[in-house]
This record gives sequence, C-alpha cells and structure tokens, in this order.
Amino acid sequence: MKNVTIIGAGASGLMAAVCAARAGARVTVLEHREEAGIKLSLTGNGRCNYTNTDIGPAHYHCSDPAFAESVLRNFGYQDAVRFFENLGIRPVIRHYDFDEFGYVYPEGMNAAGFRDAIFREAERLGVAFCFGLSDDEVMRRAEAVIDEIGRKQERDSALILAAGSNAYPVTGSDSSIYPLIRKLGLDFHTFLPALCGLYSKDPLLKEWKGRRVRGEAVLLISEGQDPAREYRASGEIQFTEHSISGIPVMQLSRYAAIALKKGQRAFLTIRTDEQHTFEIYRTAGFDRAQVCSGGIDIAEIDPASMQIKKHPGIYVCGEMIDVDGECGGFNLHFAWASGHLAGLSAAHS
Ligand SMILES: Cc1cc2nc3c(=O)[nH]c(=O)nc-3n(C[C@H](O)[C@H](O)[C@H](O)COP(=O)(O)OP(=O)(O)OC[C@H]3O[C@@H](n4cnc5c(N)ncnc54)[C@H](O)[C@@H]3O)c2cc1C
Repeated sequence: MKNVTIIGAGASGLMAAVCAARAGARVTVLEHREEAGIKLSLTGNGRCNYTNTDIGPAHYHCSDPAFAESVLRNFGYQDAVRFFENLGIRPVIRHYDFDEFGYVYPEGMNAAGFRDAIFREAERLGVAFCFGLSDDEVMRRAEAVIDEIGRKQERDSALILAAGSNAYPVTGSDSSIYPLIRKLGLDFHTFLPALCGLYSKDPLLKEWKGRRVRGEAVLLISEGQDPAREYRASGEIQFTEHSISGIPVMQLSRYAAIALKKGQRAFLTIRTDEQHTFEIYRTAGFDRAQVCSGGIDIAEIDPASMQIKKHPGIYVCGEMIDVDGECGGFNLHFAWASGHLAGLSAAHS
C-alpha cells in the first residue's frame, strides 16, 4: 500500500488527502495548527465562494496559461460541484452586476460547515491527522519521507507539499515551509500580497472615507523611460481614511505590489461621477491579503501530475505554486484542482 504524507491540512491538502485515500493510499497529514482548514472556514466572508461557473486559465495569473489549463482541465467547475454534492453540499450560484459569471457558494452559506464536510470525509476514509506539530518536527518528518523516497526503488512513499502561501498567516499559512523548498533547490518567486486594498497618502481620502461607489478603477504603473502599463476593473469601490479597497481594487492590487517592489510608481484612478487619481505607496500587508502572487516556479512542476520534475515522488498543490486567481472562487478552485491531481498522482505513482 502506498504511503502518502501531506504537509498542510488546508483546502488543497484536504482535497489531496481525500483523493489519495479514495485511491487506496495510507494518508498522513502533518499540520502545525491545531485544526484543519482554518483559512477555508473564513473564506467568502464566512460564506465560502468555492468555485465559479467560468473556471478557465483566463482567470489566473500564471507565466504559462497552458500550465493552468492543464491543471484545470482535470477538475473543472462541474467536477467541483459534483465532488462537493457527494459530501452533501448543494451549490447556490450568485450573479453580481459587476461580473457576468456565477459565483458558487454552498447552500447554507457556511464556510465552517463546508470545511467540516471535507474534513469529515477525510477522517471517514481513515486519513491520519497530526495536528499542532512544531515546524522542526514537520521538517524532520518530511526529510524522513524524502530519504525513504530516495532509498526505495519501488517508490512506496510519496510527499505532497500543500502548505499554502503567506496570506493571512494567522490561519497557519506563514511561509514556515520555506526552508524545505530551499533544501529541495526549487526555483521560487518571493510571495507578495495579492487581492488586497491599496494605500495612499492623498488628503482626499479623509473626505471620502466611508464612501462606497460604483465605478471603474484604473491602475497605471509608471516605469520611468518605458511605456506605462494600465490595468482596469469595475465594481464597488470602498474608501477608508488611508486606503482604497473593494473587489475591483483587489483584482488590481497584485500589479501594484509587484511594481512597488521593483521601485516603480503606481497610480489608481477612480472613475465615477467624480474622477480622481491617487498615488499608491503600498498595498495592504500579508495579514490582510486573501492570496499571494509568487511561489514555486511552474517550470519545476509537471502539470499532468503536480510532481516536482527533479524530485520524483514529491508533489505540490495549492497556493505554494506560482499561480494566483481573480476574486470569485478561482483560488479555492485551483486548490481543489491541483490537490485532486496531486492526491491521485501520489497514490498511483
Ligand atoms: C479571508 C480570506 C477569504 C478568502 N475567500 C476566498 C473565497 O471566497 N474564494 C476563493 O476562491 N478563495 C478565497 N480565499 C483564498 C483561498 O482561501 C486560498 O487560495 C486557499 O485556501 C489556498 O489553499 P492552500 O491549500 O494552498 O492553502 P491554505 O488553505 O492556506 O492551507 C495551508 C495549510 O498548511 C498549513 N501549514 C503551513 N505551513 C506549514 C508547516 N510548515 N507545517 C505544517 N503545516 C503547515 C497551514 O496551517 C494550513 O492549514 C480567501 C482567503 C482569505 C485569507
């Protein structure tokens, strides 16, 4: 029987655990927090927007769209709906006037209940969860599995990395897995906050604080001598005394984070009845970001199996990979699709 060890009991790790166990593997999940899926239980403002009717590579930021397409082809929107219906979760599709696609939620609109359903399925299948481990202990156990994979020709052990990004570190996704990534010699793009608010020192914010307006947000990145780049998104935009947020601003925030990191300037024009341009000096921190851009370079990963090319027997899924999605259920869907593939591949390899 194949032994599959998974680091991380978040969205992608739970999916990988269920899929590997259903495929007949003996599965152990190593988790440094005291419970599974803490971030999952907070998603969608507690309502869990778990997929979208328009799943496809166009909604993801990925250096090679063919990579995202390959992962998503194996587990699309209908697959996600069916998978969770089997766990007793009926889908509800919500349409918003700012988007033409359907955001999919569980009927009960209860993210904690959603988390419980997939966790209970893993337990029912006999998955062993080791909670509250120190990061040193996780590293020690991971190294033992890696040694075993290296030693045994018959490859009866596999390791799945599912430790998330650095977004909302209070939920356990805190980059503590990084020493293992370094040890494996993987090409890694530094995590930056994405899907978050943007900060400006513009005095107009004092006047506009508390406002919610419908309009277009246009982010302009100024690159000195090079031509400027522009990104747009529409919907409800919100203002506080120091920051600008709302879904359209969140969708653009990753570009601002990358530009500011490079020392470029970022300007956000809000087009409503009144038009104004705010210079952005920072994004919200990791503690407020829903996801991160960055992660393990996709060139390291075989998208047909999620196996790390230079380390047969080691797989990766979820936000650890350098792929981030738009708002609307796309990030959880990537966790399901990549976790599904990693779990099955690890069990069958
Ligand atoms: C507030 C909020 C709301 C969101 N809402 C939505 C939404 O409605 N729809 C959507 O599509 N996406 C949403 N997202 C994004 C989505 O939750 C993530 O993209 C998704 O959870 C990523 O799954 P993951 O398995 O990669 O990581 P996580 O779900 O973050 O899981 C990683 C797990 O690994 C564990 N771990 C980390 N390091 C170690 C270690 N060293 N040892 C052991 N365990 C470790 C963590 O404790 C955690 O349990 C939201 C995110 C946030 C923060």
